Amino acid sequence: MTFKELNISEPILKALLKKEYSSPTPIQEQAIPVALNGRDLLGIAQTGTGKTAAFAIPIIQQLDQSQPQGKQRNIQALILTPTRELAIQIDECFSDYSRYTNLRHTVIFGGVNQNPQVEKLKRGTDILIATPGRLLDLIKQKHINLNHIRHFVLDEADRMLDMGFIHDIKRLLPILPKQKQTLFFSATMPQAIASLSKSILKNPARVEVAPVSSVVDTIEQCLYFVEKPDKSQLLIDILGKDKRKSVLVFSRTKHGADKIARVLNKRGIGCEALHGNKTQGARQRALTNFKSGKTRVIIATDIAARGIDIINLELVINYDLPDVAETYVHRIGRTGRAGNTGTALTFCSHEEYEMVRDIQKLTGKKLPVIT
Ligand code: AMP
Repeated sequence: MTFKELNISEPILKALLKKEYSSPTPIQEQAIPVALNGRDLLGIAQTGTGKTAAFAIPIIQQLDQSQPQGKQRNIQALILTPTRELAIQIDECFSDYSRYTNLRHTVIFGGVNQNPQVEKLKRGTDILIATPGRLLDLIKQKHINLNHIRHFVLDEADRMLDMGFIHDIKRLLPILPKQKQTLFFSATMPQAIASLSKSILKNPARVEVAPVSSVVDTIEQCLYFVEKPDKSQLLIDILGKDKRKSVLVFSRTKHGADKIARVLNKRGIGCEALHGNKTQGARQRALTNFKSGKTRVIIATDIAARGIDIINLELVINYDLPDVAETYVHRIGRTGRAGNTGTALTFCSHEEYEMVRDIQKLTGKKLPVIT
């Protein structure tokens, strides 16, 4: 299947050509035709499946083809996502795919001064990408009017629930016009999410791709048995031998991430720690340096790494094991994306044996041990 066969319009096809994607991903193949028909959608897919393009492309196409003549711009599409990092990534996606249209898009998120965001809103936007808190703030201050929304995306609904945003979403829903297309995405479907989706979707098409365990199949996984005090030396040895470019190292705690970064820097291995204690500016800088290849290694906590979207992430290292097995799958899912191969190495001390058992049970695969 090609993008052309999905009836994607010329300006977007031209933009896709620049991205050099060979073909649509499964979620794109299934979701784009449904969404282009104006139907509501329940998409069960996690980050890394190409889901952002699956909702961005149909929204851009529908808005582009029905652009009103007047000068006045109203917000016609709202994309709600749980974290700033995701919001920025989605905004970048809209920049990519709408580059040959006249549509404007804006991103807003908390933790930074609101004034530049308000200034941009004043200039008018067709598409708004937002995190819940900042969105509600700016609505309250009357900087945002949602009366003209025709497309609404709720991204990573399960994570919204985890992060305590469900209440905000329930406050937002009645403000949106009744007549609209809703695209609802979640990686998992716990009861609370299933009932939320039922309450806001009208006759949705359901699209489901790559359940968690099958994602793991494209990734080479290895296990090292190593006690805690020896982990940093093992990491240094691996990074010294392995010449792969972009490496994401997971640490269970912020303090641990800083400590690993200090040790590596001392040994001349350029790296940065990424976690919630850093300012938004520092986190953004770290991500930009990593994406551009300036920084080879990032050490991150699970929360900070959520949604990190680096196309060529070649190696993931679990310096510590996570507390739950699902997190392991999310972590290593950041490599081996969209058809690329990836490697995930895990450092396991004797206190962590039990977690390895849980992971093997969840993924149905035995982790090969390197001795
Ligand atoms: P997402 O699931 O939206 O976070 O996307 C995951 C990654 O896949 C991003 O780096 C996208 O740029 C990339 N991607 C999206 N669509 C395609 C495609 N059709 N072919 C190859 N890569 C893609």
